[in-house]
Amino acid sequence: AAVSPMLQIRDLHVSYGKTQALHGVDLLVQQGEVIALIGANGAGKSTTLRAISGLLKPTQGQIIYQGNNIAGVSADRIVAQGIAQSPEERHIWPTMTVYENLALGAYLCKKDTEVERRVALVYDRFPRLKERHRQLAGTLSGGEQQMLAIGRALMSEPSLLLLDEPSLGLSPRMAEEVFEFVREINTHGVTVILVEQNVYNALSVSTRAYVYETGKVVAEREAAGLLDDPELLSAYLGA
Ligand code: ATP
Repeated sequence: AAVSPMLQIRDLHVSYGKTQALHGVDLLVQQGEVIALIGANGAGKSTTLRAISGLLKPTQGQIIYQGNNIAGVSADRIVAQGIAQSPEERHIWPTMTVYENLALGAYLCKKDTEVERRVALVYDRFPRLKERHRQLAGTLSGGEQQMLAIGRALMSEPSLLLLDEPSLGLSPRMAEEVFEFVREINTHGVTVILVEQNVYNALSVSTRAYVYETGKVVAEREAAGLLDDPELLSAYLGA
């Protein structure tokens, strides 16, 4: 029998006031995948992530996660169901330490020993954060803040991690590291949806990609197939 998808989005419509940002998006994610959402600025990729994580309420459509429709469910209840987002805007608390920022990511977890265990796991994965344990987050470099944002998202031990522009503003070397983390996180069983301008890097860690254009999905392809066909890719991206 076919395995039911981890996430299935049907006919998703989302508006910001009078501006309609998504006009009927359909999308499917199987457990264990890394999905890239690609397309021009303003095409609706971030909006899709915000609707999944409960930051935006859809005006129409369904977001079926593990068999339940979570469209319109509050963000904290969605975190509790195993979905975490590392937002584009990072939302690091600059006057709190690295440790305190991480602990906030486990706010649903009531046991201190469990929070400590998760912090230790994040520090294993991001040794640079461990070295900066007591440093105020606002004094970290851009790359370190990005690691902290991802680390904090991992503190809720998500099954599905939503990453919005994780390589934004990073040096090529730091960006490589972030994509390496995505690969590693995925190896440890976390399914990922990735929004990226850095299309080649994103595709190189992804299984499949959805191509967006003005609030709609216009194509769905195997990531490897797109990487092997630069002409098709540039046609999709209008480059
Ligand atoms: P980007 O890479 O620029 O974030 P994107 O594909 O993620 O692009 P979205 O950010 O989802 O695109 O934006 C989709 C549409 O919604 C755009 O027309 C954008 O101007 C609009 N939009 C996004 N955020 C807001 C907001 N907070 N208020 C009003 N309109 C918004």
